[in-house]
Amino acid sequence: MGKKLLNDYTIPQLTGLMAQLGQPAFRAKQIFRWLHQKRVSSFSQMTDQPKTLLARLEEEFEIVQLQTARRQQSKDGTVKFLFTLPDGNCIETVVMRYTYGNTVCVSTQVGCRMGCRFCASTQAGLVRSLTAGEIAAELYAAEADIGQRISHIVLMGIGEPLDNFDNVMDFLTIISCPEGANIGMRNISLSTCGLVPMIDKLAERKLQLTLSISLHAPNDAMRSRMMPVNNAYPVAQLIAACRRYQNTTGRRISFEYSMVKGVNDSEATARELARLIRGMGAHVNLIPINPVDGSPYSATDAANVRRFQQLLTQLGVNATVRRRLGSDISAACGQLRREARREAET
Ligand code: SAH
Repeated sequence: MGKKLLNDYTIPQLTGLMAQLGQPAFRAKQIFRWLHQKRVSSFSQMTDQPKTLLARLEEEFEIVQLQTARRQQSKDGTVKFLFTLPDGNCIETVVMRYTYGNTVCVSTQVGCRMGCRFCASTQAGLVRSLTAGEIAAELYAAEADIGQRISHIVLMGIGEPLDNFDNVMDFLTIISCPEGANIGMRNISLSTCGLVPMIDKLAERKLQLTLSISLHAPNDAMRSRMMPVNNAYPVAQLIAACRRYQNTTGRRISFEYSMVKGVNDSEATARELARLIRGMGAHVNLIPINPVDGSPYSATDAANVRRFQQLLTQLGVNATVRRRLGSDISAACGQLRREARREAET
């Protein structure tokens, strides 16, 4: 058994640990700041802590370090990292530059078990979930690399965040806390393929983050072909959960809609989509699918994406076309990790 990661602990959890070790409670915040603000890589750097405590911690804990296995930079400034975890597994993290600030897209699992047909991340299944501290370390490593502050986070990298619920909740606590990176919940988006019971569980937390639903199709026949998760939680149940979420949290949902040529991009489909979500005040993000090897799907051309968007707008649904950043650096989810795995196998 490897050591536990001290980075995984929220302040209340660290406070509990200090009590167990017979230490005063204030040390919890001090140690948390060392890990999440100063971002030290070794215990000896925590210079205001008693040496005996540090020695005791080091017996049981370690501090997570990500190694950069690959780094690609796009012409538009987008940087994509392949990070190696201490156990040798790889994950992807992307930094995007927007006028309002830098955004990091973090992975929440190594691989994914949701099986969406168009997605590279899920092709080899799920290896394991990431811990809270490992997800936070993606942001820290990305900030250290670009030498600038990152103000926004999207949980849209490899993995299904709601399939790793507890660790993702701890990550959000850690990252939003004033003693840490202090990133406000309103600057965080969490994207899910639609695990209905988990959407309800998330609603209970009443977080002020933006919930994004990867909808991609307005009916069960179409959606089940693209996303096996729809067999478990069909469209009507998903939309009902979205409405409950909005009522409980007072936050509007946003829908992701990846457009696939000849599959989900007809005028009739736009009308069906509008009927489904009209009146929710939700926002739709349209994005031409990023084709991945081994998938039969190709992207809707730009003119048709535009037409689809205009029709939705006419029908009373707020829709925008997502700017594609990093398309020259295989920035679609899971592609870099898959490339690296293939190379390692040959
Ligand atoms: N599991 C979560 C978050 C990760 S995927 C989810 O499903 O929402 C982030 C977004 O990228 C999702 O909307 C997903 O459907 C979409 N996506 C995955 N592969 C894609 C591809 N090849 N082209 C376009 N969008 C893709």
